[in-house]
Amino acid sequence: MTVAIAADLGRIVGAANVETRPAALVPYRTDATFGFAGTPAAVVRPGSTDEVSQTLAWASRHSVPVVPRGAGTGLAAGAVPIRGGIVLALTRMNRIVSIDPVDLTAVAQPGVTTQELARAAAGHGLHYPPDPGSRHVSTLGGNVATNAGGLHGLKYGNTAGYVLGVEAVLAGGDVIRAGGRLLKDVAGYDLVRLLTGSEGTLAVLTELTLALRPAPAESLTGLAYFADLETAGAAVGGVIAAGFLPATLEFLDAGCIRSVEAHARLGLDPTAGAMLLFGDDGGAAETRRTVSAMADVMRAHGAASVQVAGAAAESEALLAARRCALPALSRLGGATMLEDVGVPRSRLPELVRRIDAIAERHGVTMATFGHAGDGNAHPVGCFDPADARQRARVAAAFDDVFAAAIELGGTITGEHGVGAAKLPYLQAQLGPAQTALLTRIKRAFDPAGILNPGKLGS
Ligand SMILES: Cc1cc2nc3c(=O)[nH]c(=O)nc-3n(C[C@H](O)[C@H](O)[C@H](O)COP(=O)(O)OP(=O)(O)OC[C@H]3O[C@@H](n4cnc5c(N)ncnc54)[C@H](O)[C@@H]3O)c2cc1C
Repeated sequence: MTVAIAADLGRIVGAANVETRPAALVPYRTDATFGFAGTPAAVVRPGSTDEVSQTLAWASRHSVPVVPRGAGTGLAAGAVPIRGGIVLALTRMNRIVSIDPVDLTAVAQPGVTTQELARAAAGHGLHYPPDPGSRHVSTLGGNVATNAGGLHGLKYGNTAGYVLGVEAVLAGGDVIRAGGRLLKDVAGYDLVRLLTGSEGTLAVLTELTLALRPAPAESLTGLAYFADLETAGAAVGGVIAAGFLPATLEFLDAGCIRSVEAHARLGLDPTAGAMLLFGDDGGAAETRRTVSAMADVMRAHGAASVQVAGAAAESEALLAARRCALPALSRLGGATMLEDVGVPRSRLPELVRRIDAIAERHGVTMATFGHAGDGNAHPVGCFDPADARQRARVAAAFDDVFAAAIELGGTITGEHGVGAAKLPYLQAQLGPAQTALLTRIKRAFDPAGILNPGKLGS
């Protein structure tokens, strides 16, 4: 099969764009998720929609699995070839086709990075809001396929809010276009929305039409310390109840604050029980007023101390505390398992309290940070990867964390997706009837089951 892949697909994408040497396949065995690996037969790098189409038609004829892949930064093992086959790396398709300052749209190929599009939009005085922590490397195709979130989800939402249209190649090689540069379009089922977050299991995305916004003139951030997460949670409620919709509303628990400070020496208060980063963007004077008013709400709700950045560079320095939470925690045990549960915003303190109790019960080190405004928490289990028992205890603790999130009316994944990592937990959240419907949708798109098998819809 490897010989056939190299010969047949080499004719489609060019021999230099098919890789079958075992050493060269190693980076494509995993993504950024701990503990998941597969063995691809080949990596194929198409350069055009037509090459994707021909590759999928070939794979359908030969019943070979195809795993679409962007930058491989996924945290749910979505791009891991757990059933082997071809990894379809879309990073050669990395052209920004157009930016339209009147329609407020960008058209881009899937291999463009999130940051490249944001920078190109900024060059036109425009703003592409989705801002995952991986934005300097993650691709637009991966962002749309996972419906990625980021640091500004409360005000700006996840990636789905910006996907106006897609060009996609179906499993048999047919090319469809759904949506486009239209703000209103209700012709047929909403396939744009269905393909967004479909994690490479329904089609391969080959071109994206994305909405842009006018760039805000100012963006400011503040930081507030609290004695505990309950008090911080009350302050979050206070900010929303006061009529604000912050562009930033992030939290770190005590364990994260201590780790970040030990790792990055940012001058954080390591004795604080919880920390909120809050902020807004918009017109300069109005943003200053809003962020200052939010700081007053934080004080009124028991913040031990509050500071507000005076300028954009200072804001970025404050946000660094949140951005380096994961690297800081990874130093605690050698390896980390990062999770992504979500609950209604009002129940976030209860969720984090339960996570702490679960960690204690299982005797594992866990700390939590996340998007307080979105109710989306990232508990991180830290452990020695050489210690199988410790690793098993962390996994068992996460089983309980997922159950707790579902019990609180929440989700097993707010933004990272299901991939191979969360599939065993999906039915507990969706129930059997909805899980079976997902499988039927998958079969309608991909009857032979070649697209990213062992993931959503399997
Ligand atoms: C340090 C770090 C910080 C992160 N921060 C965030 C964050 O703040 N918010 C967040 O949501 N995520 C975050 N992530 C997770 C990850 O970056 C996102 O899920 C991102 O969207 C994945 O993009 P990618 O290009 O790496 O996709 P990959 O990992 O390559 O693929 C992800 C999924 O998309 C599918 N896919 C990729 N391209 C296509 C395509 N063209 N057509 C169809 N399917 C495709 C794959 O099959 C796979 O299922 C972070 C990860 C890291 C390592």
